[in-house]
Amino acid sequence: KKTVATTPALTTCAYCGVGCGVSMQPQAGGFSASGDKTHPASHGRLCVKGSALGETLGLQGRLLQPEIDHQPVNWALALDTIAQRLQAVIDEHGPQAVAFYGSGQLLTEDYYVANKLMKGFIGAGNMDTNSRLCMASAVAGYKRAFGADAVPCSYQDLELADCVLLTGSNTAWAHPVVYQRLAQAKKDRPQMRIIVIDPRQTATCDIADLHLALQPGSDAALFCGALNVMAESGKLDSAYLQHHTQGAEDVLRAARDWTVARTAAYCGLPVDQLLAFYQMIGHSQRLVTLYSMGINQSGSGVDKCNAIINLHLATGHIGRAGCGPFSITGQPNAMGGREVGGLANQLASHMGFTPEDISRVGRFWKSDVVTKTAGLNAVDLFRAVEEGRIKAVWIMGTNPLVSLPDADRVRAGLARCPLVIVSDMMRDTDTTRAAHICLPALGWGEKNGTVTNSERCISRQRAFLPAPGEAKPDWWILCQVAQRLGFAEAFAWQHPAEIFREHAALSGFENHGSRAFDISGLAQLSDEEWDTLRPVQWPVNAANPQGTTRLFTDNMFFHPDGKARLIPVTPRLPVNQPNAAYPLIMNTGRVRDQWHTMTRTGKSARLMQHISEPFCQFHPDDAPQIRSGDLVRVASSHGWLLLRAQPDPLQRRGSVFVPMHWNSRFSQQARVDALIEAHVDPLSGQPESKHMPVSLSRW
Ligand code: SF4
Repeated sequence: KKTVATTPALTTCAYCGVGCGVSMQPQAGGFSASGDKTHPASHGRLCVKGSALGETLGLQGRLLQPEIDHQPVNWALALDTIAQRLQAVIDEHGPQAVAFYGSGQLLTEDYYVANKLMKGFIGAGNMDTNSRLCMASAVAGYKRAFGADAVPCSYQDLELADCVLLTGSNTAWAHPVVYQRLAQAKKDRPQMRIIVIDPRQTATCDIADLHLALQPGSDAALFCGALNVMAESGKLDSAYLQHHTQGAEDVLRAARDWTVARTAAYCGLPVDQLLAFYQMIGHSQRLVTLYSMGINQSGSGVDKCNAIINLHLATGHIGRAGCGPFSITGQPNAMGGREVGGLANQLASHMGFTPEDISRVGRFWKSDVVTKTAGLNAVDLFRAVEEGRIKAVWIMGTNPLVSLPDADRVRAGLARCPLVIVSDMMRDTDTTRAAHICLPALGWGEKNGTVTNSERCISRQRAFLPAPGEAKPDWWILCQVAQRLGFAEAFAWQHPAEIFREHAALSGFENHGSRAFDISGLAQLSDEEWDTLRPVQWPVNAANPQGTTRLFTDNMFFHPDGKARLIPVTPRLPVNQPNAAYPLIMNTGRVRDQWHTMTRTGKSARLMQHISEPFCQFHPDDAPQIRSGDLVRVASSHGWLLLRAQPDPLQRRGSVFVPMHWNSRFSQQARVDALIEAHVDPLSGQPESKHMPVSLSRW
């Protein structure tokens, strides 16, 4: 039985996709967190959230025993009941009536088991994840351009660049250690140019040479305009375009429409600012564009990603040190979920639903019922629950009744679902309240496995605390149910290292360089080698045994002809525009010291001191009758919130910012996603969470 660690434990932070290395040191009454100096993502740095990890380990609020109808039961009864009820649904309605909904908080090993069970043995594609809300657009953009979901860059490229574009990213608050690295690089090399592209003036602007406070949603036009100016000023890399890409002619022809004057008008930017922006890009030899939720959470997020990638391909700013289009993820293991097939439109190990991939995965898993079609993405999945097409849903490590758009509708739909299973650390969340069966899962510091951060770095999360109560690892829970469903042989693992080895072996199975994700070099790790695994960036294979810092250095991409694709993009503004009833546009995002629905960060008094209640920021001219500190009603066509007013002259006129963290444990009127329409990108299924017309009124 595991006991509390008495020596420092090296692990990976529980929070964002930066994936910092953490050293948890035992001290009287608990643990304190400090940065792991050996971790390549962070080199000993932590942000305030990471440094407070030791303050969030208490067991208050934890779910410590399985429950059926909110009454405690033992594991055997809970597992038997789940297996019997899932089997009954499958027998009566078929496998498509069952769905799993996972989370970037799951470890890769947990994710692998969930995906294998749903897609390989239940035989349906309905395994999706809250990563759909985070970076599904970035995935689709990379796949269109490169033929694979392949992030080209490393964090060190940010430090090596002479120009960095931060677009749709309040890096200072959402990915603070990346911001620290960038700020240090700027201090060391003041000639480095940093440009922030964001409708809001955020803390990230503190290190910016230029802030483009563009019209919300107009990013694609900005990058099409940049492409046009680079073409007109002879800044394209013609040899690169000719030898390593396809599609440039059409894309460049379309970009000609985006003159400086038209782009300035469309983006709501002064012409001189736009020219300064284009001049900085044009003069740079090494350009990185870091993009995040402001790009991805959009009804045209995939096109925005490809507009960015088009610029990098056309100017040859890719595959070299200090260059690349760099999507940064929100969660600690958003990338790991992508690797195992956590998204409903992927099968496993970056494979899709071609007959070859289905056959290959079926042979590897020794299953002849591997699903032949993609499943439902997050929004459609919960719509299917509402409509009664899905009759059993298992939600793992996430709180969709707070985080999905149109959250009240999701709640009403879930209330009608015959079987809702929730695995979670916490006993009382909006989603556990809606569950028939709740299963206590281990949390950070208690569970063992791997995560992959935004720069493709696989890193260990290590247990240094004993399992509390009857909590279990997610992979174990899933295996127990799988065995009861009759799949004992395929789910017989006793240790997460065994799962990792299978996952690594699948990534190399019949992979002749055709798939980007290949960690076959880790498939033979012993348990001890897995336990002591140092952070390593994929691919890790025979050609790259020590991992891979940067992709596309050989100018070879993953389309069959080895060439990248420039993708035609027609910029389009968000569907929901302000109107007489709802004249302002609401943008949502993180605050510096909180994480998701605050189940962990809310336990730290130090973190709560930063901002203790939900608020809305707006320009004072937009609501002169509302004073700072007033209670304000923020309403959309879908619902309303009660928030503290923060008029701020730095906000763009016509825009309102509301943080995403607060939920029903704080107030019934605090869930911002209850206001947001479930409008999604047609290619990625990612919701437009940053552009909802609202009104403000004093309470
Ligand atoms: Fe954790 Fe992200 Fe902060 Fe690093 S930057 S310590 S990963 S929250």
